Amino acid sequence: MSRQISSLLAIAAVCVTLAPAPAFAQAPKEKPVDCSQVKCLALTFDDGPGKYAGTLLDTLKKYDAKATFFLEGQYVNSRPKYVKRMVAEGHELGNHSYSHPDFTKSDAATIRSEIQKTQDAVKKASGVEPKLLRPPYGLVDLQVSDIATEFGMPMILWTAGSEDWASKNVDKIQEQTLKVAKPNGIILMHDWVKQTVDGMPALIKTLQRKGYHLVTVSDVIKDEKLEPGDAFPLPAGWEN
Ligand SMILES: [Zn+2]
Repeated sequence: MSRQISSLLAIAAVCVTLAPAPAFAQAPKEKPVDCSQVKCLALTFDDGPGKYAGTLLDTLKKYDAKATFFLEGQYVNSRPKYVKRMVAEGHELGNHSYSHPDFTKSDAATIRSEIQKTQDAVKKASGVEPKLLRPPYGLVDLQVSDIATEFGMPMILWTAGSEDWASKNVDKIQEQTLKVAKPNGIILMHDWVKQTVDGMPALIKTLQRKGYHLVTVSDVIKDEKLEPGDAFPLPAGWEN
């Protein structure tokens, strides 16, 4: 090895040593919940981070509940501090496009760009990249599935909705969610609906009293062995 190269290597080694610690806080390690042994439920919040994400995060923290946020890239860019907090507090992040177009009516280039811009925004805000895709409106077709495969992501839909966006009523959101909650269910909610966030302490307390562990989507799908491009749960008319 020439002296020039070895001194360059020495400089490189010093640079590596002096590299600053990662700026993003890591979620504390907690013992994993085994959803094949206990009752689990995954609450999922779409289209955010919404205006009320901070209040929602406070509530989730207070009751030691985890959630999954399917984020819209445009709001990741306008509210990055919530995204950073979601990761730091142990929640899961998913990709819900950049500006919420119907992917089944979009061309391939648009879909790729919508997904990539959101991956980039989330990475910039939080240091992590989503591993799950929820296409806008939960609408999927073969083209969307192929592109999800390219990105290495399964497509996560929901087993039931809270219908929060339609009722915008605290009691109705609670009633509907309790009606459709089931072990390993995936519930669709929105953190831009004020009534969802307002009613969350009471809803979480009731779910926990019924024995539910509120966990991330990855916790409830662990045994499904999903491949990139798979949709879960399967939309009507789809087969494995
Ligand atoms: Zn949406």
